[in-house]
Amino acid sequence: MSISESSITYLKKLLDEKTDVLITTHYNPDGDAIGSSLAMYHFLSSKGIPSKVLIPNELPSFLKWMPGMDQAIIYEDNPERCNAIIASADLIFCMDYNALSRVKLFTDELKASDATRVIIDHHVQPENEFDLMFSVTNVSSTAELLYQILDEAGFADLITKDMAECFFVGIMTDTGSFSFACNRPETFQIAANLIKTGLDVERVHRMVYDTYSESRMRLLGQCLGSNMKVLPEYATAYIWLTLEDLEKYDYQQGDTEGVVNYALSIQNVAVAALFTERGDRIRVSLRSKGGFSVNEFARTHFNGGGHRNAAGGDILKTMPEALLWFESLLPAYSVEIHNSLANYK
Ligand code: 5GP
Ligand code: MN
Repeated sequence: MSISESSITYLKKLLDEKTDVLITTHYNPDGDAIGSSLAMYHFLSSKGIPSKVLIPNELPSFLKWMPGMDQAIIYEDNPERCNAIIASADLIFCMDYNALSRVKLFTDELKASDATRVIIDHHVQPENEFDLMFSVTNVSSTAELLYQILDEAGFADLITKDMAECFFVGIMTDTGSFSFACNRPETFQIAANLIKTGLDVERVHRMVYDTYSESRMRLLGQCLGSNMKVLPEYATAYIWLTLEDLEKYDYQQGDTEGVVNYALSIQNVAVAALFTERGDRIRVSLRSKGGFSVNEFARTHFNGGGHRNAAGGDILKTMPEALLWFESLLPAYSVEIHNSLANYK
């Protein structure tokens, strides 16, 4: 964990000087992307600094209740208006992503902007595209990192219950409800501090996890029942979803969130993948147990990235081709995957 004093000083200077603040996050935003962005928005509001939150595309319905979401702007709803907002900003926060390309829809506009860009993120290997970097990878989430930054800057007492909910959703979703990436005592200390604001943990958990539509639950059934293949020889399991499957179960943004983790939770499986057909490409979501780096795997083969144990990328093939290709990659990693599993036990 390293947040330097000089970075904090520079951040404070930026907050004093800049007047048009924009908070951005990555394409297909998850709980940490939205949670950390909205927490930042609430923090700035509490300091009397107006800001806007810009999200590339539609978010899962289980995140729409979050405090401040009604003020956020979705880029794909009105690109022209959003381009003007980006062009006028003089300070841009990049929350929960490590490369400008990760916003996908307004990467060029971000690159063209004169604004000072501040990254607050926990993904490995950040690009060199930012003016001020808070890039720390041993935290559970960007939300946890933002909390630590504000704490070290002396602003922890500004944290309200609304803000706490946003932080909590980020930490809770990026740790699978405190089941992975949370072996640092600080993660729980921060969670405890958040609860002290009056946050209702059970309610927040319910709002995120107990709000499945019937069709989403049945889509999960299809994934686990018919669309999963286990390859014991490579300690790997994968699930696929074709456009036809998605249509059949009335797919909504976010419906496949968490699906890949079911494949990983099989005993003796160290690598799990979810392949989702997206019209022009196959989206891959990867998870691993132990030392095997799906970040490296996704970077090498799928033009993607992420963390050691959770990463994603794209394949420009049809679904049958993509699955065959994925299987053909595994033999070269067999020893590494098995070692990862052996050391994990
Ligand atoms: P998910 O499988 O939940 O979509 O993503 C897992 C992790 O990998 C997340 O932390 C996400 O930010 C990262 N990730 C997913 N897709 C990509 C990608 O295409 N490129 C990069 N660099 N990271 C990704
Ligand atoms: Mn995150």
